[in-house]
Amino acid sequence: MRRFQLWLICLALIAAACPARAEVRLNVVASFSILGDFVKNVGGDRVSVTTLVGPNGDVHVYTPAPSDAKKVAEAKLVIINGLGLEGWLPRLVQSSGSKAVIVTATEGIAPLKIGSDADPHAWQSVANARIYVTNIRDALVSADPATAGIYRTNAETYLAKLDALDRDVREAIAQIPKARHKVISTHNAFGYFAAAYGIDFIAPLGVSTESEPSARDIAGIITQIRSLKIPAVFLENISDPRLIRRIAAETGARVGGTLYSDSLTDEKGEAPTYIELVRHNIKALTGALID
Ligand code: ZN
Repeated sequence: MRRFQLWLICLALIAAACPARAEVRLNVVASFSILGDFVKNVGGDRVSVTTLVGPNGDVHVYTPAPSDAKKVAEAKLVIINGLGLEGWLPRLVQSSGSKAVIVTATEGIAPLKIGSDADPHAWQSVANARIYVTNIRDALVSADPATAGIYRTNAETYLAKLDALDRDVREAIAQIPKARHKVISTHNAFGYFAAAYGIDFIAPLGVSTESEPSARDIAGIITQIRSLKIPAVFLENISDPRLIRRIAAETGARVGGTLYSDSLTDEKGEAPTYIELVRHNIKALTGALID
C-alpha cells in the first residue's frame, strides 16, 4: 500500500512538471543546416531541431558520429533533402534503430540533371525553397496535429518572406549587364539558381565536393575563363579556397568573395539563416559583376 502511495506521489510530481502535453516539443532531426533553418521557421518553439551537418559543414562527404545515431533514434521526424545528397544517411538511420518518419523535403520538385545524376542543390532557387517549406509544414502537421494551426501560421509568415526574397533576387540580377551573367564557383551547386535567375556558373568540381579536378579540368576552366571573359570567380565556405585563388591568379579574374552553397555559417558569420545566405550571395554577385 505504501509503495502504491509513493507511486501516486511520483505521478503527481511528473504531472506537475509537465502540466500540458502541448509543452512537449516535437523532436526533429534535419540532415544539414539549411533544412534545420526551414524547420525552425515553421516549427518555432514547438519543435526541438537538431542538425546533423552543422554550420560550414559539407553534407556531401559527412561521416556520422556515434552521437548522431542517438539523435536520430530519439527523433520523431528526420528531414532530408534527398536527390542523392545524403548518401551516408540510410545507414545511419538503420543502425540507430530509429522509428522516425523520414521526410524528403524536395518531394514534388522536378530535379535538374547533371549527366545521369540528379542535382541535389534544389534549395538554391527560392521558388524551390517554398516547396521545401510546405513539405516540412505538412510533415509537422501530421506528426503533431494538435499544433497544426501554429505550424500553418508560421509557414505562411515565412513563405511571405521567401516571396519577398525571390522578388529581390530578380531585381538585383536585373541590374547586372547580360554580358556579365557568368561566374566560376567551386563546385556545381548553383544549377537551380542558374535556371531560375539566369546567371551561368562554371564549376571546376562536379556536383559533389567529393571529386578532385584533374590538371586537365583546371586547364579547361582557365581557357574557358579567358575565352568567355568571365569577370569573377567565387569561393565557397565548404570547399578549399586554394583552387579558386589559383584560377584567379592565372586568369586575372576577380575573386568576388564567398558564395554560400550547401551550408549556413554560425551565428557570427555572414549567412546564419537561409534568407541571409541568399541575400549575401546576391550582394557578392552584384558587387563583383556590376562595374
Ligand atoms: Zn554541394
